[in-house]
Amino acid sequence: MKKDEQILVTQPVLPPLNEFIPLLEDIWDSKWLTNNGKYHKQLEAALAEYLKVPYISLFSNGTLALITAIQALKITGEVITTPYSFVATTHALWWNNIKPIFVDIEPDFLNINPEKIEAAITPRTTAIIPVHVYGNPCKVDEIKKIADVYGLKIIYDAAHAFGVQRNNQSILNYGDLSILSFHATKVYNTIEGGAIISHDKTMKKRIDYLKNFGFEDEVNIVTPGFNAKMNEVQAAYGLLQLKTIDSNIKQRQKIVDEYKKLLADIDGISFFEEIPNVKHNYAYFPIFVNKDKYGTSRDDLYNILKDEKIYARRYFYPLISQFPIYKTERFNSLAVAEKVTEEVICLPIYPELSIEDVKRICSIIKNK
Ligand SMILES: *Cc1c(COP(=O)(O)O)cnc(C)c1O
Repeated sequence: MKKDEQILVTQPVLPPLNEFIPLLEDIWDSKWLTNNGKYHKQLEAALAEYLKVPYISLFSNGTLALITAIQALKITGEVITTPYSFVATTHALWWNNIKPIFVDIEPDFLNINPEKIEAAITPRTTAIIPVHVYGNPCKVDEIKKIADVYGLKIIYDAAHAFGVQRNNQSILNYGDLSILSFHATKVYNTIEGGAIISHDKTMKKRIDYLKNFGFEDEVNIVTPGFNAKMNEVQAAYGLLQLKTIDSNIKQRQKIVDEYKKLLADIDGISFFEEIPNVKHNYAYFPIFVNKDKYGTSRDDLYNILKDEKIYARRYFYPLISQFPIYKTERFNSLAVAEKVTEEVICLPIYPELSIEDVKRICSIIKNK
């Protein structure tokens, strides 16, 4: 990229247009645009195989997938969740008339801290909604133990965790349900899109009813559903995206390796190390700015980069619990999250980002 061009935090890889056009022609010929069409079925099968999950239901976006997952499990009352996420995680609770109870995160990988969950449970608690933030797996075994003791459901917001594995097992296979987002900014995209991963046939059926008005057949409605279906154009596009996902993730890894090499010896700048036995997807590259050691604040660094037309993003700032609409929902101390939200900045990362640009970004950070 030329020096005067802007660099955004992410940029989608699109499938080759010449491969997409024949699929569009096929859709045009069939005039079948949505409602569990041929490409929808193909993409469900292909994704279940790629992700190594038993059942997947495609959605028009991740937020509707999450709202539906909560409906599918009939969750009510209070739900324990993390303040350190994209705001949609909590919005999905609001739309289900559920009170979010925020619990602090762990300092290591910034996911919900299982040790803080029990103290937040009340008789009204029915579920836990953790987030695999930046695709780093939550402490799934500890969370499951607590959920089992208290009879709580678990829905993982796995919007960042496409393709992530732990001990050769998909991270999506933990919890009662997991949701994915295929938004244009995510590792794998269908322009807009999302999915719910489920573990038995009956649950998949219920989810598929819920996303299609509750229709069982022409004349029977089994549940008050709504409309959250993925259409055929998105599904066909998604099939093409699967062809390049592995090479795209490899390319992301190269970029992360380069960032880590070049930022390694800067005082006050830190980043995550790889987690043993985890296959990462390199969805994001967050760094953490210690103002005292680095000599410049996170926000000043954000602006220095911005002046160079490099648009890093402060994911996640503010915390969800800091938005006025959710401020009253705070449970107890969120000290770790409150510290991290002031230090984090996600640097640009996408498969087509050049190593030259990575070098330029790092030299700006070094020489600010
Ligand atoms: C992107 C995202 C969502 C929402 O997904 P959409 O497909 O954009 O609706 C939910 N949770 C998290 C953590 C996300 O990053």
